[in-house]
Amino acid sequence: MERAVKKYIFWGAGTHGRLAVEKFGQNHTTDESLTGFIDKNQTGEFCGYPILTEQEIHKDTEVLVITVDKTEFVAEIYEQAKKSGYKKVYWFTSVKQKKTGKFLLDYCVNCKTWGDLVLSQAEIHVVDYCNLNCRGCAHYSPIFKKELPDRESRINDIRKLKDKFSHIIKFFLMGGEPFLNPDIISYIEETRKILPDTMIQIVTNGLLIPKLSQEVWKAIYENRIVISISEYEPTHSMINRIKDILEEHDVAYILRPYESKTKFIKPLSLIPDSKYEKECISNGCINIWNGQIARCPNLMYINRFNEAFQTALPNQGIYELDSLDGREIIRLMKEAVPLCDYCIHNEISWGSCGNHPTLYDFAEED
Ligand code: SF4
Ligand code: SF4
Repeated sequence: MERAVKKYIFWGAGTHGRLAVEKFGQNHTTDESLTGFIDKNQTGEFCGYPILTEQEIHKDTEVLVITVDKTEFVAEIYEQAKKSGYKKVYWFTSVKQKKTGKFLLDYCVNCKTWGDLVLSQAEIHVVDYCNLNCRGCAHYSPIFKKELPDRESRINDIRKLKDKFSHIIKFFLMGGEPFLNPDIISYIEETRKILPDTMIQIVTNGLLIPKLSQEVWKAIYENRIVISISEYEPTHSMINRIKDILEEHDVAYILRPYESKTKFIKPLSLIPDSKYEKECISNGCINIWNGQIARCPNLMYINRFNEAFQTALPNQGIYELDSLDGREIIRLMKEAVPLCDYCIHNEISWGSCGNHPTLYDFAEED
């Protein structure tokens, strides 16, 4: 008897859609096939597959894989897919997390446990300061003192956020440089307990990777943490060593390549009607800190910035976590805030501002 063919539809005909076609091509069996794409903004073909209409899809039987590029849209598409009646919905993470040779198991997450109120992503500082002190850092890490945060209170913020949603798709432990915190193992373990099915990433500049202990690697591996490395100039000079160490410990990782990190954005103007084009570099990077929530790091740390440089950039849009429910968070984290008027496209070469950052490492006068 012939086996039924499992048919796939990919939702999102962009960079991730292309990558999903490549990974599907390398990791499918003869009884699996790709029928085509859904993309509300395109018609015709993509990667040799048709872009389909709702009527052309069998929502009961076909496996829908969300392949949009930006995580901030994954929750929205998941909601739409549920409303449209798709029975089997997966999310293509683009990161290889297992090595079974099966597309769904290695690269995708089954959305069946996600529930009714899903947040796409959020992030927290495990440490506020950094060992690189990049000019233009959107988290303003160079202005922070070399102090460790209160672990319980940061973990409690993660717990409070989780309690407002049925699922959080991605959660980032970052900074500053998260591996500067000697308590990183307990952050890893506690976050995994709170977010058992979330893709948890540690975002690092990678410089401390050769110095991590076996215990830290064990915690990363056992808690299914993805290491996301921003390859700045100093990281670039040791990247092969870093890759070897990651491979040796068999952990999933993402490299944000050198070419994309040699250019930096100095993110702010000191006036709202700047001569520079406006640009948002942190859309969707919802940040929690000291019991509060803001739609981006640029805003979350602006009070600290104003204190450090005697400026008065607007700080509206930072909310107490306790004051909002999940639906309010989703709505408010998409609303423009006054600081958006000051965010500009101002490309600079990557460089460190050392231990003495100035206002002009982050902002332009005009
Ligand atoms: S590596 Fe650079 S951009 Fe990243 S947190 Fe540190 S100072 Fe900021
Ligand atoms: S303040 Fe607005 S424009 Fe600036 S980074 Fe945040 S969300 Fe984007």
